[in-house]
Formats: sequence, C-alpha cells, structure tokens
Amino acid sequence: MQTSSPIKQAEQIAIEKGLFYKPFFLAPVKQIFAQRAVRFDELAAEENGDWSQYLRLLAALSRAQQYAADALPEELPPLKQGHTVLPAADGSRIPLEFYPALRRIVSQMAAAQEGQYFQTGIQRAADLPQQEAEALAAQVLQGEYAQEDAPLFIWIHAALQVVWTVWAQQLDDKQVLPVTEREVCPCCGGEAVASVVLANGDWNNLRYLHCAVCNSRWNALRAQCTFCKDQSGIALQEIQNATNGALRGARAESCERCGHYRKMFMLQYQQYAEPVADDLASLALDILVGEAGYLRGGHNPFLPIE
Ligand SMILES: [Zn+2]
Ligand SMILES: [Zn+2]
Repeated sequence: MQTSSPIKQAEQIAIEKGLFYKPFFLAPVKQIFAQRAVRFDELAAEENGDWSQYLRLLAALSRAQQYAADALPEELPPLKQGHTVLPAADGSRIPLEFYPALRRIVSQMAAAQEGQYFQTGIQRAADLPQQEAEALAAQVLQGEYAQEDAPLFIWIHAALQVVWTVWAQQLDDKQVLPVTEREVCPCCGGEAVASVVLANGDWNNLRYLHCAVCNSRWNALRAQCTFCKDQSGIALQEIQNATNGALRGARAESCERCGHYRKMFMLQYQQYAEPVADDLASLALDILVGEAGYLRGGHNPFLPIE
C-alpha cells in the first residue's frame, strides 16, 4: 500500500532513478490545447492569405479543444487491456466521452469568428446524431472515411484528441514503461505526427516522438530511422536561412533505406515549436524533401492536402 507523502515519493523517485534520469514517456501538459492555440496564432501572423486564415481557424479549434478537455472528468479507463497502455485509438471502440466533446467543440466553433469560412462543415458536424458521429470516428481512426465526409474529419479528430489527451495527462512513467518497438505511441497506438528535440538542461538533445492522437511524447534515439530503424542512411534536411519561425526549427530526417522522412523540431532553434502547429507552418520543407523523392511519414490530422 502507498502511504508516503507526494514529496517523499518524488525524493524516492529521484533516488531510484538517479541524477541523470531520462524519461521514456512525457505526458501532455494540462494546458496543451491552449498553448497550441497561442502557437497557431503566432504562426498565422507570419503567413499571408488563405493559409494564415486556416492557421487562425486551427487556433480557434485548439481553444475549443481546451474548453472541451476542461469539461471532461479526470477518470482513467482500465489500463493495459491490449498492446497499449490506454485503450487503443484504432476505431475498435469509441469512448463515451467522444460525443459530448464533439458537441462542445462544435458549439464553440459555430460561435467563433474564425469559423465563418468553414460553417458548412461545422454545421454538418453539429447535425450528426451520436451513433453516426461514433461510426464516423471509428472510420477516421481506421483511415477509411469516404471522401464526402472529409470536411467533417478535423472536427471528429479534434474531439478524439481531447478524449485520449485527457487520459494521457493522467499517466506517469511508472505506467508507461519503455518498449522496444517505438514506431507508434505506447499509450494509444497512434502514429507520431513528428518529433521534437529538447533543449533544456539534463534532457538537452533527447528526441521524443509526438502522438497525433493523445499528444504523449516518447523517447526515440536520434539518427535512427523512426520507420525502419536503419541508421546507415539518415540525413537531416532543412531550408537554409529560413526567416519563417517554424522553418527555423524544422528539419526533415530522411532515410535512404526506406525512403521515408519524418519532421523533427529543434527547440534549440525555435523554443516554442509545437509539433502539430509547426508542422503546418513548415510545409515548404515537405515540398523540398518531397521533390527529392522522399515519402512523408507522420500524418497530421489537420493537414487537408494529404
Ligand atoms: Zn498516443
Ligand atoms: Zn528508414
């Protein structure tokens, strides 16, 4: 039975893990969506035209996600029932919390000024009955939705993110133990959208993959392909002399063996980089690497042109 005080526990953890403890798992912070909203607004200010408007819409969506996340109870489902710590985000089961989260997001967005260009999609999402919304959510997680439902995709995915992220926020690294297979999220089985390389103190230079569903981060070796694990043909590509904020910190880690690349955000060069947001503001790098023949790995649920 655990009877020690929280402080004693922390001391105990430090002793057990030693001074140079490097966590395998980093839980998403409580204000992750609010922070992402700020980042989207910053990045939107550096863009022009339609893309800037889209980034502002995603800022509003992130704020709506925070509102929906704050309303969810802090309760965890039974852990480790399958290969993942949380119930797998594979569409086999849509949590009960999903539909209320979707309703909250959509009602916030319908009122947001930024939503005006996307009213049709928002209205369709608002009209979805629970059963239909859940069926669509399952399809979205399985990557099998019909083209005509594409306008609903970002709202559905936003609500799914909220449910899994609130769960992941309650986990700690005693629950999420290191695994050998690091291609997908150990918490929910989701795909990493990109990775970040930290730039603070003891954790300087450690690389973490960032889950597109539950926003967990898990450690993965640098200079090793995050798709095929090969180390022989890894190269880092970047846009030279980039002035745009996201591009300054963005690198594409490409692999000669499997021909994929995944983006990596170096906090050393762009301390406020946020994988989901910065990915969408550094598409010039995707074009550069795509022209060189590499295939993008790491799906961003908010990227409409994939
Ligand atoms: Zn995850
Ligand atoms: Zn590879």
